[in-house]
Amino acid sequence: SERSARNHDRFHPYSRPSAALQVADHYNRHQQQTHEQRKRSPIYRMRNFNNWIKSVLISRAAKNCRPKAVLDMGCGKGGDLLKWGKARIQHYVGMDIADVSVEQAHGRWKEMRNNRFSAEFHALDCYQYPLSKKISPEQRFDVVSQQFCLHYAFETEAKAKQMVSNVADHLRPGGFWIGTLPDAYWITKKLRSVDGLSFGNSVYNIRFDQKDHYPTFGHRYIFHLEDVIESCPEYLVHFPTLARLAEERGLKLLKRTPFHNYYEDAVRSDPESVNLLERMRVVERGGDRLSDDEWEIAGRW
Ligand code: SAM
Repeated sequence: SERSARNHDRFHPYSRPSAALQVADHYNRHQQQTHEQRKRSPIYRMRNFNNWIKSVLISRAAKNCRPKAVLDMGCGKGGDLLKWGKARIQHYVGMDIADVSVEQAHGRWKEMRNNRFSAEFHALDCYQYPLSKKISPEQRFDVVSQQFCLHYAFETEAKAKQMVSNVADHLRPGGFWIGTLPDAYWITKKLRSVDGLSFGNSVYNIRFDQKDHYPTFGHRYIFHLEDVIESCPEYLVHFPTLARLAEERGLKLLKRTPFHNYYEDAVRSDPESVNLLERMRVVERGGDRLSDDEWEIAGRW
């Protein structure tokens, strides 16, 4: 779009983008794919699997606290709007650093048929600024959702703290903070098991600059995911630090589960989610499912 082209121009030829702008530019430039394009993708099933994880997570949170107001921090193009509609919320606030994505999310909400919830959308770097730049400091949410985006805050300690403050300042007492993020244990285990600085398979690649020291913040690597993420900088999230920062702001860790285990637990004990696997095209009745390479990378979350 015109705006993302403008953002892109800002970086060339002499200016060096900040990491956050680089991330925003990456997501702004990524085109929305048609259903047919998605179906042809080598990671079609893995994307469906990730969506299934989010659907189960969102519906479980909805059962637990019957949310009326939800904040989707890092909402992207609004990929979870339908899921929140099914959870019968009343108000949705979507925020993201990528302004073009925010506009697309807004457009998607306007096009939703039988829309029963109100919504507002704001472009904001949620790890740099307090949310009160865009919403009332008094505004409270029953759920704050951060899907596949929390790890960008671990670029610096200040950003991680700002993110946690934003959650703590706007979550009502008894509310839930839910999210999905890369598993730093899985990533570093892989890194230590290879000779060089990069590893991957036919659908993904992860490349580090060094493997001599493991800082708590700013531990950067470059992630490439076929068809979706084209060499974008990401940061390892030292989970005990995240839990400590959250606890300092009165948030208590309830549960943390790697994706593979989340799936295995659901298969054992949650028939409703198992039915959803077929409806969301994670598996086909004929037996078609994630390839081994897709299943491997699905385990990094
Ligand atoms: N949550 C959406 C989903 O699950 O479909 C989008 C996930 S996408 C992988 C990551 C999102 O995080 C991008 O839309 C990106 O712009 C957003 N993001 C990264 N850094 C951010 C920041 N500092 N503030 C707000 N959003 C940010």
